[in-house]
Amino acid sequence: MMDLSYAQMLENAQRNEVVLRRFQAIELALIGASGFGQFLAGIRDQLPARMALEQAWLLLADSHGEVSAILGYDEVLPDGLLLEREPARLVERLGELPTRVRLGSPGEVLGELALDWAELPGSVALMPLWRDSTLIGLVVLGSRDPERFAPDQATDFIERFAAVTALCLDNVLNRERLKQLGLTDPLTGLYNRRYFDQRIDEELARARRHGAPISCLFLDADHFKRINDTHGHVAGDIVLRTLANRMRGQLRGCDVAARYGGEEFAVLLPQTALGQARLVADRIRTQIGGEPVVLPDGRRVPLTVSIGVSTCGNQLADSPMQLLARADAALYRAKEAGRNCIMSVESGAQA
Ligand code: GH3
Ligand code: MG
Ligand code: MG
Repeated sequence: MMDLSYAQMLENAQRNEVVLRRFQAIELALIGASGFGQFLAGIRDQLPARMALEQAWLLLADSHGEVSAILGYDEVLPDGLLLEREPARLVERLGELPTRVRLGSPGEVLGELALDWAELPGSVALMPLWRDSTLIGLVVLGSRDPERFAPDQATDFIERFAAVTALCLDNVLNRERLKQLGLTDPLTGLYNRRYFDQRIDEELARARRHGAPISCLFLDADHFKRINDTHGHVAGDIVLRTLANRMRGQLRGCDVAARYGGEEFAVLLPQTALGQARLVADRIRTQIGGEPVVLPDGRRVPLTVSIGVSTCGNQLADSPMQLLARADAALYRAKEAGRNCIMSVESGAQA
């Protein structure tokens, strides 16, 4: 091992600290990107600016043109972005499947992969973006300095950065997919039933894999017909929006809340056992019923909800339909018990 003096070690540590902080700043920008446009700007503009590089490219695998369809691109692509309809050809041009970060001269690293550089770089870094064993894209960084990226350099930071970037890209594409497919409810901004039914399958399968509990809430506004009859449909819509916002305020980022029907809402609480789910349900109930909804003209509308809670506990044998049906049956009992309350059923129990 190389014998480093204390001063050299200190200098290395300080340099690493600076590089790490720069990467973290960009990671935060990527994590916070609310759409693909912001994500691309993070890679194309912020990354070169912060890391003192000349250029950065984002190449995306676009099998069947799915990504172009989601992003709404026809022929013209924004700067710094390339879409490859046949991802296998990317690999062919690179010479081999890029499983790890590669550093070196453009020839060494990129093989036959030609990019339209503003200025041919002296050295490049290639970051493969992997999600669930699939290569979803590549980031290529170019520096004028031929020494900047050398094959023998440590790649720990950049590997980590590639992993975070891949995760953020996956997220941002999923979000764009959602917008595209109209899986949200326009009145409340919550997911719609179609999305919920899809997610409950996935979340239940995930819970089963991890042996974790998962709970479901089914929520229905009490005597909503009366609210409509008394204040009108437009006021009813405002009340529904307020209900959704008050509910959302009590949920975590990983919870999935949907408008399931007219004035009915469903919520999935991953990694949540019955006791905790009941607490969440009661928080939601209290929050919604705590204050009347104030209409723009000042009228105050009292609002309460009833909530059914079901949990898929240890045996995790429930199907998504069973989990939902039990929450629905519990909701029915809450209505029968006089409304503005919660009822629950445990896994396997009769509702
Ligand atoms: P309960 O406590 O038993 O649930 O009584 P309820 O009056 O809420 O029950 P019901 O399900 O019979 O009525 C639901 C009402 O919600 C009927 C429907 O007109 C109203 N509704 C459904 N969707 C909307 C909507 O998008 N906007 C408005 N304003 N009203 C809606
Ligand atoms: Mg109803
Ligand atoms: Mg109702």
